[in-house]
Amino acid sequence: MHQFEIAVFPGDGIGTEVMDAAETVLKALQSRFEIRLHCTRWDGGAAYYRETGRELAEGAFEAARRADAILFGAMGLPDVRLPDGTEIAPHLEMRRAFGLFAGVRPARKYPNTPQTLADPRAETIDLIVLRESTEGLFASRGRGTVEDDRVARDTMEITRATSEKLFDFAFKLARRRSDSGRGARRVTCVDKSNVFVSMAFFRAIFDERAAQASDVTSDRAYVDAVALDLVRKPWDFDVMVMENMFGDILSDLCGGLVGGMGMAPCAEIGLEHGLFQPAHGSAPDIAGQGIANPTAMLVSTAMMLDWLGERRGDARLVAAAASLDEAVWQAYAGGTILPRELGGTSGVREVTRAVLEAIG
Ligand code: ATP
Repeated sequence: MHQFEIAVFPGDGIGTEVMDAAETVLKALQSRFEIRLHCTRWDGGAAYYRETGRELAEGAFEAARRADAILFGAMGLPDVRLPDGTEIAPHLEMRRAFGLFAGVRPARKYPNTPQTLADPRAETIDLIVLRESTEGLFASRGRGTVEDDRVARDTMEITRATSEKLFDFAFKLARRRSDSGRGARRVTCVDKSNVFVSMAFFRAIFDERAAQASDVTSDRAYVDAVALDLVRKPWDFDVMVMENMFGDILSDLCGGLVGGMGMAPCAEIGLEHGLFQPAHGSAPDIAGQGIANPTAMLVSTAMMLDWLGERRGDARLVAAAASLDEAVWQAYAGGTILPRELGGTSGVREVTRAVLEAIG
């Protein structure tokens, strides 16, 4: 039986708490599905930086590069800063170094959780924000300028090479979802092509790739109109693909539509590497109390198993992923848990226990 190497970075605050939940669930899945995962925990993050002056333990970055997949909790604390004033965020460097261009951010409404929108169709929200994660406006990170304290500039960068990979990824994702009975096999390109040359370029490349994916419905929409529609009728969306900054903003909005950041998983995928982590931060306001919501972490873990299984042609990993995904759904459907974040009383342990029971 092949053993897969997983580089595990629990990080700071609730990152370590939700990672414990992920590792517990992975253990259960290993015996159930006869898969072998070798998880190695690596130190890193803001607390580690405060103690050691290093963002990551020696050898950790290269271990992440060599691993079959990378599992992240959350890193960063608001009061721990690098000399340039920014927060500790080694995963941003991994995004760049490992070419993790596809930021997959699902928003799915789970049963028995409070509805943010009054319309009963909100119960069916199940969409994906696909956020380009290596360029866009974030390409300017660390490179912006301020001239004479008068004018500041950051530059948007869209490349053909990354956009083509991104759109192909989007169409593949819509197909895969539809094959598993979810989504309308539809990709919406979200941009501002009526104003910016960079965005017109982005949409033109989308059109080219869409022409080669005629089995998937393709739409185009302006980001401002999409912001409105995400509040008016989010159940209409399937896969939405967009530039980095737009994705940063709209994915948090979508997290809010389904209850909060503890419900917002994330996969960051490149051609050779995959990093999986909840979209939330270390949440120092609730850390150490056992009350964090591990749902986003557990669904991100399922996304890791699915990606690895598909990439390596390992049906058992794909089955384990589907089982975990379904178990999270069943845990909520059972009606015995409701995380504190959503107005209930369940903490990390209760949610994890309910998911383990659903795995069986
Ligand atoms: P970052 O910039 O690192 O993403 P942030 O300051 O934007 O971090 P988070 O750490 O994600 O924010 O926290 C935002 C809010 O959401 C906080 O009030 C936090 O308590 C809450 N929150 C985030 N994740 C969870 C979770 N898993 N369970 C419960 N509450 C959460």
